[in-house]
Amino acid sequence: MTRTVDHHQAAPRLEAPRSEAPPSVVPSSAVPRLDVPPSAVPTLGVQALDVPPSAMPILDVPALDVPLDHHGLLVQAIEQSRLAPPVADRYAVGAIILAAGGEVLATGYTGESHPHHHAEEEALAKLAGLNLSGATIYTSLEPCTARRSRPATCTDLILAAGISRVVLAWREPTLFADCDGVGTLRRNGVEVIEFPGLADSARAVNQHVLSPTTLLVSPTTLLVPAPTRAGLR
Ligand SMILES: [Zn+2]
Repeated sequence: MTRTVDHHQAAPRLEAPRSEAPPSVVPSSAVPRLDVPPSAVPTLGVQALDVPPSAMPILDVPALDVPLDHHGLLVQAIEQSRLAPPVADRYAVGAIILAAGGEVLATGYTGESHPHHHAEEEALAKLAGLNLSGATIYTSLEPCTARRSRPATCTDLILAAGISRVVLAWREPTLFADCDGVGTLRRNGVEVIEFPGLADSARAVNQHVLSPTTLLVSPTTLLVPAPTRAGLR
């Protein structure tokens, strides 16, 4: 059983450390945000491995001569994860997809359009059919390689879309599934950059999973863990 709760109450704010940000990079505040209203986003049509990335249209986005602020954008992905309703048997994850040229193409968070949808899946679905070669996906949690809720894992979807780089904060614990997104992506030629210094920030948004009995949902109700811990991952 899952229960949706008021994330504004349940998800505490935290101050993400910024000490790892290199000094001479484009500030994340300067990166334009995707200006597409949620109502204009099509329903999820993302499919893994149906069409090879080489057969998809390529995004025509000019490249920048300055390095991307991976740390700052990952902090933004963690901010996205706060939008995910905290449910005891799934992680709250946020994702941002950036074009090679630095434009934010799409964002997503767990459960954004359906309770079973993962953050990476939500963001990728908004770009379905595009060859995302050269693009980077920032995700607060390691992309999954095992899940029960859908046939395609987020790692499958990332590979199918041709994403070139994955930047993440937190390796997935073995709480729900034993995933190896980092290894699988690297073996398939995807660059993986980890910011373990931001893992605590990503974990802090997931106290409903990691310490579910301490999450106060309402003055009289505690969110309890699912009996089997069999989550939606
Ligand atoms: Zn996933």
